[in-house]
Amino acid sequence: MRRPSALVLMYHGVDRVGAVRDPHAMFVTPEAFRAQVEHVLESGFVPITVQDYLAGLDGVPLPQKAVLITFDDGYLGVGEHAAPVLASFGVPSVLYVPAGLLGGWSEWLEPRHRHRLMSDADLRAVHGQGMAVGVHGLDHTDLTTLSDAELRRQTVDTREVLESVVGDDVRSFAFPYGSHDARVRAAVRAAGYRAAFAVHDREDDFAIRRVDVNAFDTMRTFRLKLRPLYPSVRSASERFPAARRLAHDLLGRAVRDQHDGGTVTVRTR
Ligand SMILES: [Zn+2]
Repeated sequence: MRRPSALVLMYHGVDRVGAVRDPHAMFVTPEAFRAQVEHVLESGFVPITVQDYLAGLDGVPLPQKAVLITFDDGYLGVGEHAAPVLASFGVPSVLYVPAGLLGGWSEWLEPRHRHRLMSDADLRAVHGQGMAVGVHGLDHTDLTTLSDAELRRQTVDTREVLESVVGDDVRSFAFPYGSHDARVRAAVRAAGYRAAFAVHDREDDFAIRRVDVNAFDTMRTFRLKLRPLYPSVRSASERFPAARRLAHDLLGRAVRDQHDGGTVTVRTR
């Protein structure tokens, strides 16, 4: 099946957090986020909804330069800072949340690096502003470590919880840590989702590649990440050290900086 050509961006937090509380560089500032959205629009990208994206998987044509904006984890700042900016530009997006931790904290991180997550009410508010919702597991456990019964809880039960919170169908999934294997992909498919987002990985409806945007990004690296060639050059450079020179030549400092920056582009949080 032909894959839709949409660019899929992956954000985590949008807030003023600082490196001490954000060692994984997951948070972009509200100012940077606004500038990035403006740049996306000025560059002729056409933001699409996740429903559009899923229809694209079924063969419905997408606009040229389609872009899907995704957020993982459901940090409070996404509701406070990103949702209003997106709403002001009429830009849709989709938010992947660990449904069992709504209103709590990102408990999968070190205690000093935890951040507040949206509540049920926050989720309904952003949903009303044009942010669709999807499942990011129940409690952000790495799904590849779970029994079949627990995997079912994290996919099937979680979807029902989230659908009742937002009063809408939930048809897409994002793997915690971007971590998956054949059994996990099969479980997500069997749970009735139409697609699942990963980070790098394979091009498959249940492991869709995304381009991460993080605290290290400048406007220059952000612009590079919008290039069609970026994902394949990035994954080649991570799998084969010999390809890094090529990646560096093509993309400049963006790739090298990310290697120096540590784990953030290797596994999502
Ligand atoms: Zn996550």
